[in-house]
Amino acid sequence: MNEEPTTVTSTMDAVGGSENAAAPSDGTAADDETPRRTFELEETGFKEVPKRWRKFYRIWQGEGDTLGPNEVICPVCKVVIRSHREFRPGDRVYCMPCMSRLVVVQRPDGRLEADVLY
Ligand SMILES: [Zn+2]
Repeated sequence: MNEEPTTVTSTMDAVGGSENAAAPSDGTAADDETPRRTFELEETGFKEVPKRWRKFYRIWQGEGDTLGPNEVICPVCKVVIRSHREFRPGDRVYCMPCMSRLVVVQRPDGRLEADVLY
């Protein structure tokens, strides 16, 4: 008896939709050689600023807490200031809770911190 080979037709659906990672340019001249990573900010429950600004701040939890590349600690009031983009040295940030103008600096060990601008 002959066994007839069964023909298996597999349909391959072409998967459309490539991820478009192109970020809109904000028009400023970029000194950075690499594009910055961007971050999704979620509500942090930080109550010392109006609701729409809360996601830009959070309370530093102390030992065991870690800062993301888009976070720096305000040296004045110790809250964590957050950004949609990762911070780079030279970035200006504003701490709304204590109304300090800050600049992001890089420490010798590579960590990013904020210094008060006078
Ligand atoms: Zn502050």
